[in-house]
Amino acid sequence: MSQIAEYIWLDGHGRVRSKTRVLDSDIIPDWNYDGSSTYQKFVSDSEVMLYPVKSFPDPLRGESNILVLCETDYEKCTRRIARDIFEQHPELEPMFGLEQEFFIYDKSTNLPVGWMADSAPEPQGDYYCAVGADVCQSRAYMECVLGYALAAGIKLTGFNWEVAPGQAEFQVCAIGIDAADHLIILRYLLMRIGEDFNLYVSFDNKPFTNWNGSGLHTNFSTKEMRENDNGIDMIHTAINKLALTHHDDLKLFGENNHRRLSGKYETSSAAKFTYGAASRNTSIRIPTSTTKDKKGYFEDRRPGANANPYIITANMFKVVCGDDESLPE
Ligand code: MG
Repeated sequence: MSQIAEYIWLDGHGRVRSKTRVLDSDIIPDWNYDGSSTYQKFVSDSEVMLYPVKSFPDPLRGESNILVLCETDYEKCTRRIARDIFEQHPELEPMFGLEQEFFIYDKSTNLPVGWMADSAPEPQGDYYCAVGADVCQSRAYMECVLGYALAAGIKLTGFNWEVAPGQAEFQVCAIGIDAADHLIILRYLLMRIGEDFNLYVSFDNKPFTNWNGSGLHTNFSTKEMRENDNGIDMIHTAINKLALTHHDDLKLFGENNHRRLSGKYETSSAAKFTYGAASRNTSIRIPTSTTKDKKGYFEDRRPGANANPYIITANMFKVVCGDDESLPE
């Protein structure tokens, strides 16, 4: 019986692309695509190879059909670069909790759900973790993404409505390269399922000046930070390392992220590296549970929603734990 495989990869702007292949056996072959139409190649030399690295059950097509995550031979394939970095120290078991924020847009108005062209919603305060149709819309879409993502085996830990109307976040938690892999499949499902609801998501870091932007808050720990009695000391050492690379790291945190990191709307200012316990206006937050237990994890609040998760996670691991690979900007 034939099997339908949806090959998924990132284009030259870090956006998810996909195409469909019908397979007549269990073998998932390499494939290719036109890189001149994905911001990656010139027309005269356009072919980019797809190398399947991981497959997931396809919850939309059901049965034995699959989603196939791919690396490519594009010279800036960020998954390949991240994998090389993670493979240096797998014994450290780097864990990432990625908080993917986004706005949900209504295709018929090109405005976030709940927004009207001639009137701005009321000021913030009512929408975070909201319940009720007066303050939250498109819950059926979010529930659909939740169910399908879990059916695909994505390591989700939850979702919530965010500070702005029409804004939400999903959280993914996994070890090493899995964290970014699962986030990419989540992004695919957010975009693909949106088609069926006449909705689309925007990962724009700061779509509206007077509302919170969207981030990709990155919670991080190594096995030792989580388990050792002196885990908190290792976390402080890690934060000191991140302070030294702050201005270089900012270049990796997504397009137009400087507009989001204004120091207002629950962000820190990009100009200065800061950290604090339970703080939401610093670069790094040390959770109350970490302070209390003297071990645990910390949160990097600087990455923006449109950041490439391979770059974000691999850079964190490289700065805190690793050696020498360079990352593309
Ligand atoms: Mg959030």
